[in-house]
Amino acid sequence: MTAREIWIVAETRKGSLTKVTRQLLGAARSLATQKELSVVAVLVAGDQAQADELAQLAANVIWLNQAELSPYEATRQVDALGQLIEKRGRPFAVLAGSSSAANEFMPRLAARYQSGYASNCVDLRWEGEELAVRRPVYGGRVYEELAFCQTPAWATFRPGAFDLKKKLASPGQLEQVTIDLPESNRPLVGELKIGAIQDIELSEATRVVAGGRGLGEPQNFELVEQLAQVLQAAIGASRAIVDAGWRPHTEQVGKSGKTISPELYIACGISGAVHHTLGMNTSKVVVAINSDPEATIFKHADYGIVGDAIEILPALTEALKS
Ligand SMILES: Cc1cc2nc3c(=O)[nH]c(=O)nc-3n(C[C@H](O)[C@H](O)[C@H](O)COP(=O)(O)OP(=O)(O)OC[C@H]3O[C@@H](n4cnc5c(N)ncnc54)[C@H](O)[C@@H]3O)c2cc1C
Repeated sequence: MTAREIWIVAETRKGSLTKVTRQLLGAARSLATQKELSVVAVLVAGDQAQADELAQLAANVIWLNQAELSPYEATRQVDALGQLIEKRGRPFAVLAGSSSAANEFMPRLAARYQSGYASNCVDLRWEGEELAVRRPVYGGRVYEELAFCQTPAWATFRPGAFDLKKKLASPGQLEQVTIDLPESNRPLVGELKIGAIQDIELSEATRVVAGGRGLGEPQNFELVEQLAQVLQAAIGASRAIVDAGWRPHTEQVGKSGKTISPELYIACGISGAVHHTLGMNTSKVVVAINSDPEATIFKHADYGIVGDAIEILPALTEALKS
């Protein structure tokens, strides 16, 4: 039986709900009212403050408040959400932010329920009685639109795909549910060590300044940091300089790094290889600084500056300061 519900699997980072979780709850609320569905936020592990915040954004919150569910581990997450579906009935759709965790457990659940899954979507709407999503494919060269003909529909969304919506007038209902976790599913992950995280998280940042091999040498990356500081932006990097050890992998943007959709993306000395642009081509405004007027990055840019990044970056930083 299909429950008339859209579930949002909440994600947290550094103790707070991620922006994409909050954005998705707003988008799901708008869609749900058109078809008389209800929105259910599902919090796996987490804490009281996160559960309370979800209740400000969703009419129903289900909290799997069990210490064994933390830290995240895919098999247990799949088991927990699978059991919740068995208890409550199949939801109409299950949506989550496009994190590496969600892109791991969501397709496993879709396979279990023999229904469709789409990752990295940027839009969600009704197509008649079916939910439809839009997402970039072939390195962002084209967008495809998919409608789900089975339930649950499973989809993950890029941060920034939707605007944030206001809180509910009165908080939603919070329900704690306990799941049986078989002994064999006890933590496979004993401890989770979080690597260096920027103050402004890259995947959720409104502005990003990214640098590539065109900066010439590692110490020139300071120029990117200075511009990022003035703009209160997160820092991004191409794989070429991550592989060269200039920057940590947590800052890599692209196919084998992070997928981001900031309001503003400034690419400094980055050629615009498809593996890189795959990670940033849904940014709202792209500014490229490159000494080669033929560089591919200019095809993705709204504003292009042809010139030496080592000269342009300090001038831009000074101009923005004043
Ligand atoms: C399976 C796979 C996955 C990959 N995943 C990723 C990924 O996730 N992210 C990623 O970024 N790459 C990824 N890559 C690598 C990708 O293909 C490119 O090699 C990489 O993005 C190039 O980095 P870059 O633009 O910094 O360097 P380059 O391609 O060397 O470009 C440097 C640019 O700087 C310009 N330049 C030079 N001097 C200056 C100057 N003084 N001022 C301004 N501009 C200057 C040059 O004109 C050039 O356009 C992947 C590759 C593979 C095969």
